[in-house]
Amino acid sequence: MKDLTGLGPWVRANASLQGMLFQGMAGNAAFVAEPPTLGDLTRLMRACQQGGHSLRVLGEANNVLVGANQIPGVVLRLTAQPFREITVKDNTVRAGGGASVDSVVSAACKAGLSGLETLIGIPGSVGGALRLNAHDEAGDIGDHIRRVDVVTGDGQVITRERDELKFESQGNNLDDAVIAVAEFELEPEPEDAILRLMKRAWMKRKVHQPLRFGAMGPVFQEPSGLNAGELITKAGLLRHRVGCAEVSHRDGNYLLVRSPANADDILRLLELIQQRVRERFHVDLERKIAVW
Ligand SMILES: Cc1cc2nc3c(=O)[nH]c(=O)nc-3n(C[C@H](O)[C@H](O)[C@H](O)COP(=O)(O)OP(=O)(O)OC[C@H]3O[C@@H](n4cnc5c(N)ncnc54)[C@H](O)[C@@H]3O)c2cc1C
Repeated sequence: MKDLTGLGPWVRANASLQGMLFQGMAGNAAFVAEPPTLGDLTRLMRACQQGGHSLRVLGEANNVLVGANQIPGVVLRLTAQPFREITVKDNTVRAGGGASVDSVVSAACKAGLSGLETLIGIPGSVGGALRLNAHDEAGDIGDHIRRVDVVTGDGQVITRERDELKFESQGNNLDDAVIAVAEFELEPEPEDAILRLMKRAWMKRKVHQPLRFGAMGPVFQEPSGLNAGELITKAGLLRHRVGCAEVSHRDGNYLLVRSPANADDILRLLELIQQRVRERFHVDLERKIAVW
C-alpha cells in the first residue's frame, strides 16, 4: 500500500478522529485527509484508486459509528473553505458538500428564497443530508436540487443534472464517492413569510424529535409501509438504556447518547431493539447508521 502523506500536509497517517466524531466517540484511521481544494481532492481520489486505499467521507458524523479497530484506508473530511462555501445567485443557492444544512437554510432565507426552510434543525452537512436523503413532511432535500457536482472513485468531477437524479422516500441514486457541491433552485418569497414557515417547522421538530444535544438518528430505515419509531415504541423500548445510549422517549427511532459515546453500547442497544421488534412483530429493522 502506497503512503498518501506525500500529497500534502493535509493528509495525516495513523490519525486520531478525536473531536471529529459524535459525542466525543474515539476512533483512529489509517489516513485522515482534509484537501484544501477540489484539485487536491481529485488527486487524492486518484491516489486512493492507484494505491488500493478505500475511502469513506465523514460529514458532521451524526450517522456514523466507529469501533475500536483502526479504520483501514482514508477518512475524508470536506472542512476546507471551498467545500463549505455558500453562494446565492438569482434563485439558486450553491453549497459545498461540507456546509451545514442549517447554514444553507439560513442563507436561502436571508436571500428571500423558499423551499428548504422546513429542513431547519436537521443536524448535518449538505453531503450527509443528500447521501441519506434527508426529508420531512414537506418533501425531501432532493425536491429542490438543480444539479450536484460529484467526484468519482477515479477522481473525475462530474455534474449530475436534475433529470438524471432520482429522489424517492427510500433513497436516491446519488451513489458517487463524494458529493462536492449541490445547487438548489428555490422560489422567491418575502423573508418574513419564509421565517414563519421556518419557525413552524422548528416548533414541530421540537415537539416530535429529540432536538437535545446528543440525539442520534434515525437509526433504522423505515420498513416498507411501517414506521420504525412506532414499532420500537410498541415493543416497550422507549427510554431503554445500554451504557451511554438510551432510546429517546420522543421518537423510538432516535437515541440519546451521552458523552463520551461508546460505539459498543450503541450497537448493543441497536441489536436489542432489532431482536425485540423481530420477536414481537416479525419485522427485521435494517440499520441506517453507518458502522466503520
Ligand atoms: C435530532 C435529529 C433530527 C433529525 N431529523 C431528521 C429529519 O427530520 N429528516 C431526515 O431525513 N433526517 C433527519 N435526521 C438525520 C440527518 O439527516 C442526518 O443525521 C444527517 O443528514 C447526517 O449528516 P452528517 O453530515 O452528520 O453525515 P455523516 O453522519 O457524517 O455521514 C452519513 C453518511 O453520509 C456519507 N456522507 C457524508 N458526507 C458525504 C459527502 N460529502 N459525500 C458523500 N457521502 C457523504 C457518509 O459517508 C455516511 O455514509 C435527524 C438527525 C438528528 C440527530
